[in-house]
Amino acid sequence: MQKIPLSKSLVNNEIKQAALRALESGWYILAKECEAFEVELANYIGTKHAILSSSLTAGMFLLHLAMGLRPDDEVIVPSHTAFAGIEPMIHCGTKPVFVDVDKTYCLDTEQLERAITPRTVGIMPVHLYGHPANMDRVFEIAQKHHLWVVEDCAQSQGAKYKGKMVGSMGVASGFSFFPSKNLTVLGDGGCICTNDDKIADKIRMLRNHGRKEKYTHEMIGFNLRFNEIQAAVGRVALRHLDALNQNRRKIAAFYNERLCGLVDTPPEMPWATAVYHMYVIRVKRRDDLAKFLRQRGIDTGIHYPVPNHKQPAITQKYSDLPQLPKTEQIVDEILSLPIHGELSIEDAKTVCDAIAEFYNKK
Ligand SMILES: *Cc1c(COP(=O)(O)O)cnc(C)c1O
Repeated sequence: MQKIPLSKSLVNNEIKQAALRALESGWYILAKECEAFEVELANYIGTKHAILSSSLTAGMFLLHLAMGLRPDDEVIVPSHTAFAGIEPMIHCGTKPVFVDVDKTYCLDTEQLERAITPRTVGIMPVHLYGHPANMDRVFEIAQKHHLWVVEDCAQSQGAKYKGKMVGSMGVASGFSFFPSKNLTVLGDGGCICTNDDKIADKIRMLRNHGRKEKYTHEMIGFNLRFNEIQAAVGRVALRHLDALNQNRRKIAAFYNERLCGLVDTPPEMPWATAVYHMYVIRVKRRDDLAKFLRQRGIDTGIHYPVPNHKQPAITQKYSDLPQLPKTEQIVDEILSLPIHGELSIEDAKTVCDAIAEFYNKK
């Protein structure tokens, strides 16, 4: 039987041609392909700037430095997200203050205000699994308490909140091009989007040894640049993004219909046009179901089995961690089903049939 993977990157002839073109150009780092990719990304998201970096983790670190995050500052984040999302602020000495999730698996805005202290400087909502967080509420609270908002859009390229592109609403936003993400460069990569000229300028310098001109270093920077071959690939992938997301939405609608009543299917709120980076169900006997599916050649995943406030690196570092009952409950129940831009309805049907078989049989 054909294996059904959890996710799959777009690799077509157009992408191969683009990679070859970059290979043969003789330019490999931050040249024409990167410049064009940055312009196209900014146009797509609707921000003035998009600044490429070697990963989203790297880009977020540069963003935090550019925004002047300081030791003992606090930033409110959901615990239920990729560990990579919280590392950059910790490198600045800033403390992540974890909040629980709502039924969309994004941060619970009902609990935001309770997490604010005199040290809080910002809120970092994560549009997890491709579903936008409740941004009106986030901004309402942020404005009331004079906090900035940075959007983690690693999983939500092309998703919309009330018709607005995610990544265009906060003071800045971050995207990842890791191979499983909706928009990938077939390797590591990421970008920061912002309308703020000063922040953009600073990130551009920091990623490239603190310079604007070749031999003048205006600040101490890093080498966290981006590559031409990867940019050439990303430019093609960006042109296909909307169609691939459309297929993800079609698969999600099919799963919703077929799995409704069998398992808890993911909600899509009225404000959301979700792009289903992951299609996450909640089930009883999760590990048995995953095993049953694996035996039938169906890949699944758990995003994420251990919440960040329970990670050893965090529990060793901070003593006053919160209890987050919803997060702690869902991590034992969530299961990510196969979904990607090219998944067929036949494969989705195979997945649904296997899940139905599991629950009827036992
Ligand atoms: C993938 C991901 C990151 C990290 O992106 P990298 O490009 O791998 O550094 C951060 N946050 C979230 C929510 C992610 O899914």
